[in-house]
Amino acid sequence: MANNKSYDVIVIGAGPAGYVAAIRCAQLGMKTVCVDNWLNINGQPSLGGTCLNVGCIPSKALLESSELYEMSQKDLAGHGISVGDTSIDVHKMMGRKDGVVNDLTSGIDQLFKANGVEFVAGSGKLLTNKRVRVKTADKKTQTLSAENIILATGSHSVDIPAAPLDNDRIVDSTGALSFDSVPKHLGIIGAGVIGLELGSVWRRLGAQVTLLEAQDQFLSIADQSTANDALRLFKKQGLDIRLGARVTATKVNKDHVAVSYEDNDGEHSLDCDKLIVAVGRRPNSQGLFDPEAQLLLDEWGFAHVNKHCQTNIPGVYAIGDVVRGPMLAHKGSEEGMMVAERIAGEATEVNYATIPSVIYTMPELAWVGKTEQELKKEGIAYTVGRFPFAANGRARAAGDTTGYVKILADAGNDHILGIHILGRQASELIAQAVIAMEFAANSEDLALTIFAHPTLSEAMHEAALDAQGRAIHAARPKK
Ligand code: FAD
Ligand code: AMP
Repeated sequence: MANNKSYDVIVIGAGPAGYVAAIRCAQLGMKTVCVDNWLNINGQPSLGGTCLNVGCIPSKALLESSELYEMSQKDLAGHGISVGDTSIDVHKMMGRKDGVVNDLTSGIDQLFKANGVEFVAGSGKLLTNKRVRVKTADKKTQTLSAENIILATGSHSVDIPAAPLDNDRIVDSTGALSFDSVPKHLGIIGAGVIGLELGSVWRRLGAQVTLLEAQDQFLSIADQSTANDALRLFKKQGLDIRLGARVTATKVNKDHVAVSYEDNDGEHSLDCDKLIVAVGRRPNSQGLFDPEAQLLLDEWGFAHVNKHCQTNIPGVYAIGDVVRGPMLAHKGSEEGMMVAERIAGEATEVNYATIPSVIYTMPELAWVGKTEQELKKEGIAYTVGRFPFAANGRARAAGDTTGYVKILADAGNDHILGIHILGRQASELIAQAVIAMEFAANSEDLALTIFAHPTLSEAMHEAALDAQGRAIHAARPKK
């Protein structure tokens, strides 16, 4: 056992929740150490957790590359641009993606240095009396102690007995971000956010993609009418999405995987050359604490926390994917800032009602606040303001008029309750909706706001005008 160092704050985990918490603690003058056990393929520590290494960032890098490839094949000719035969170099595409990841992970390293956050590479375990034992990759241990400890250990992919990973033919999302060639037929178990994004990447690059989804509903967490519009568009693109299809078994053969699944019509099978298991994620809480520390977990293994991310142990907090709430990078980062500031005596809160969700397919799907089905269930009367990109000048100029903006406002006081966007750049446009809701806007406030012309954002303006019954560029205004 080596030295016993003491700190104001120990953060375990350097993903978007933990590294943000650590930086904010250091900014607020606390002596902070961050412990993280992520190693890259060269066996070197790599900060940024799932998000930077094998999540948000590499998936978006590949979505961007594959989108450009598809555009060059399908869309440029319509602009009068001929590029001849296009081809893809998967190796180079992966190299670019890895470069983006390296730049960003080493950026966190620099931010730690600039802010005075100490970094310790190794696995942390919570002990009693606010101590953390750290074991390094070469099996050395040291014990750290602190006034406050923040657990930010993230999550890992769920695997199912029906499809055990062999990391060759059957992979998780991490494997699917590093295929060395385009599979001919790609099967995906789970048509959730990750399955749809990875399916889109490989479909655009030429794979035949089949998604098997156990639920009958498509994207049950999203507004259902918007999700069903997206489903129609994805199917039209060629994604073969089979709902109500539960995978029961898989068999890896020499040159393919045989997948058995059941739906209402009975049993079926599907052969594919690669299979991605994308059935959700579980919190990294196993082995995180000594039983004597008595950290309380819920029945799913999430660290139990209150709205300020305090666990049952005074001075121990938990944030990000290891606690309840949507498994999203920005949710974890906000919790990280809140906890740091509350430790420093401030009264910061996270507004859980305005966390945006985005699916980076094309068109993108982005939303914040309530869905129509939630409002109906809660018996809240609402008005709908809707505006299609087909009537938006900028969308027409860009040559992509898919989708719309939909605003749900309280029928009584006009308060915005939810905004749902289907279309190109929905991920960017949704920020306006979040700001409006954070400032407790009514749809009338957005209707009275000036938007630059011509922009996709004008669809937000027109949807707000439509909620007021007076859209200008709609065929039939309500009033
Ligand atoms: P993580 O990012 O998982 O980081 C936890 C860190 O803690 C890791 O480095 C881990 O190695 C380390 N750790 C774990 N246990 C220990 C221990 N005992 N000791 C020391 N270190 C430990 N979210 C979005 O918001 N937008 C997206 O576009 C998006 N795309 C995604 C795409 C994919 C393919 C995947 C898999 C996820 C995606 N996510 C996305 C989800 C996002 O990555 C997570 O919500 C986010 O990374 C959670 O942050 P976190 O800090 O809680 O945990
Ligand atoms: P997400 O939670 O967004 O990552 O989505 C994961 C999806 O996988 C969910 O919609 C689940 O219904 C789906 N799923 C889980 N298990 C199976 C299974 N055995 N076969 C098909 N789909 C599954």
